[in-house]
Amino acid sequence: MFSSITKYIRTIRYGLGLEMGMYANREKGDLILMYHNIFPHSLPGLNVRNIGQREFSEELTYLSKRFRIVSLAEMMETPADGRRLAMTFDDGLANNMKYAQRILEQHRVPATFFVCTAYLRGRSILWPDHLAMTGFHTGQPIEWKGVTYRRRKANRYISDEGKRLTHVLMKEPWSELQRFMDSSEEQTGYKPSDDTRHEYRWRVMRAEEVRIMAESPFVEIGSHGITHANFSMLTHEEARTELAESKSYLESASGTQIHSFAWPFGIYTSHAVQLARECGYTRQLAVALREQDAETHSLLHPRTGLFNDRSWIERMHLVNKTFANLS
Ligand SMILES: [Zn+2]
Repeated sequence: MFSSITKYIRTIRYGLGLEMGMYANREKGDLILMYHNIFPHSLPGLNVRNIGQREFSEELTYLSKRFRIVSLAEMMETPADGRRLAMTFDDGLANNMKYAQRILEQHRVPATFFVCTAYLRGRSILWPDHLAMTGFHTGQPIEWKGVTYRRRKANRYISDEGKRLTHVLMKEPWSELQRFMDSSEEQTGYKPSDDTRHEYRWRVMRAEEVRIMAESPFVEIGSHGITHANFSMLTHEEARTELAESKSYLESASGTQIHSFAWPFGIYTSHAVQLARECGYTRQLAVALREQDAETHSLLHPRTGLFNDRSWIERMHLVNKTFANLS
């Protein structure tokens, strides 16, 4: 009850443009935002990672008035001279090119896109999107390693014992994830990568689309690895391959040098962070900073994720609140 009254008051204050008095007026600082997919309309029933293009455009109007939106390179190479934001997009789905890029250009706002190069492994879809598409379009249960997972609230697959399939899959190696996708297709009769009606909901960008994006003066291309791997589960050689091969693929696709890397699921290890530096990544993006080791931290930049489980006013509130509380 209290929280719904608070939200109601916040909506009125934001509507009237009176919200800035709610925060300490920090004059300087840097905040990096993390988005994923931009769709024609938000589809909360598919996953939390998509935001409707109209809402996204409204967010940019709002943010541009209150912050200076700069490229990651500018943010990291020059000291903050005011209230600065950088925009980033993870996963590199084709909807970034189809919807997000145009809106960013209309607002004259730079952004970095962290692309998964799944095509290097013959895949056009990442496993979290494969799972979301299957749940959303079939609603059918999926069995994996003797356990049945049913589709529950927010399109989550959960076993009768309360285990979440996503958390189980995050620990599986790539060979098992491929086997999972094949098995899910057999069990449900639904192959997301054949669902061309909805390809902008699931398809990762092809090399040609990466090139088109990279031509925009507002776009920087970064890497998100090949298979959206959980780096805490990889061997040294597997981690190196993910980091180095995705980099060279994106360099030849984009015709630019790739300097930035975003850790899939926000998961990294000290070892992987050092390896990424050796592979030539000078900008490494995390979500929350998870480890205490200062040297690792000095190479990582945290981000604030914006998802459709909040309304756009609640998302802007999160941005303002996080900025006001920057250390
Ligand atoms: Zn990701």
